[in-house]
Formats: sequence, structure tokens, C-alpha cells
Amino acid sequence: MVHSGAGLSLRIARILAPVTVLGPGRRVALWVQGCEIGCAGCASVDTWDPAGGFALPADEVAERLAEQIRDGELDGLTITGGEPTSQPHALAELVSQVRERLDPTPVEVLVFTGRTYQAAARAAPGLVAQADCIVAGPFRRDLPAAGRLLASSNQTVTYRSPAVRAYYEAWQAAEGAQLEVAVDQGSVFLVGLPARGDLDNFANGLERRGLNLAGVSWRP
Ligand code: SF4
Repeated sequence: MVHSGAGLSLRIARILAPVTVLGPGRRVALWVQGCEIGCAGCASVDTWDPAGGFALPADEVAERLAEQIRDGELDGLTITGGEPTSQPHALAELVSQVRERLDPTPVEVLVFTGRTYQAAARAAPGLVAQADCIVAGPFRRDLPAAGRLLASSNQTVTYRSPAVRAYYEAWQAAEGAQLEVAVDQGSVFLVGLPARGDLDNFANGLERRGLNLAGVSWRP
């Protein structure tokens, strides 16, 4: 099969799978690189630099994601960052290519953006149009988390595909981990939406056991 959009480049920070704390089911999660929003207290400061991470052709990333979903029998794709709406064309192409590669199996897509829903729809209409669910709004460390999807209560959830609402609501109502640990290429990642102080508590706990972290993503 010939795939279009081969020229689009995407800057990514990492891909991890399976992830169970960023949306329902077992998912593959893509962290894009580059964010100019700069929320105080962001847990992913390492994804801010637009020149950091890796630049890869969007179709190569799509192939890798499709393969992970197929081989791992995963339930969905989560796109987070960094700021996904800052790479609108490459990500719109990526989502359509992942779906094309896995057709006729449907792929459910969740996007986290630090912009409001309206601003995200203006900045990245093609990406927003293809997402089933969008969690939108900047992280505010002065506000409490709300449920399993909102790191701060100002953020919003929009179900663009009404079919997924019940599925997401059941997952949010269920008891479950908020954070999980993943290891990839010599780095340890704490995945999920940490509550205030969780990250420093994690680092301090490791330090007490004699493990000093060389660098952490939530501090510059
Ligand atoms: S929380 Fe998200 S939107 Fe805010 S600075 Fe961090 S990566 Fe950017």
C-alpha cells in the first residue's frame, strides 16, 4: 500500500507501550517534542525544547505505532507532549496513517493539549478532527487534579466521538493506578498525571535507597 505525506517530519521525545494511565485500556503513548506554553510545575520540562528529541518522518513513526498496536494488541493511541498542536500537519498525517495501516480495525485516539479546546481546534484542525477525545487546557499547579484525565481542574474533556464517552467514563470511574514506571533505553519514566509532590517524593524515595537520579524531567 502507498502512503501519502511521506515528506512530513515529526519531532518526538519518546514512544512507550503499553501504557495504562493515559486513557482507557492498554495504549501506545507518543510524547511529541517542543512546547512553548510553559506551564509552571510542568512534569515534562524535558519536552519543551523544540530542537530536542528526535526528528523522524511522520510515516516512519506511524509505522512504528501501528506495529506496536497490532503486535501488542493495544486498545488505543495517546498523543501528549510537549504540545501536539504545535506540529499540526505532521500529527494529522500520522493519525490518518496509523488508521490506514490498521484498517479495518478501528484505532481510538486521545490527545492531550495545553491549549484550550477552541485554541487547539484553530491551531490543529486536522488533528482535532481525527481525535476521539481531547483533554485541553494548560496545567495549573494551584488547582487540584480532577479524576484520572485532568492534571488540574481547569482542564476540559471533549468527546469528539460520542461512541467513546461511556468507555472513557467507565475507565475514569474505576479504581486504578495514576502513575506507572517505564524503562526505555536506559531511562526510567514515571508515566501518568502525578499529583502535587509525587515526582519529588519518587526521586527522594529512590535517593533514600541509594539511587541518585542523574536528571529529572520536571526540573530544568
Ligand atoms: S504541561 Fe503540557 S502544555 Fe504545559 S508546559 Fe508542560 S508540556 Fe507544555
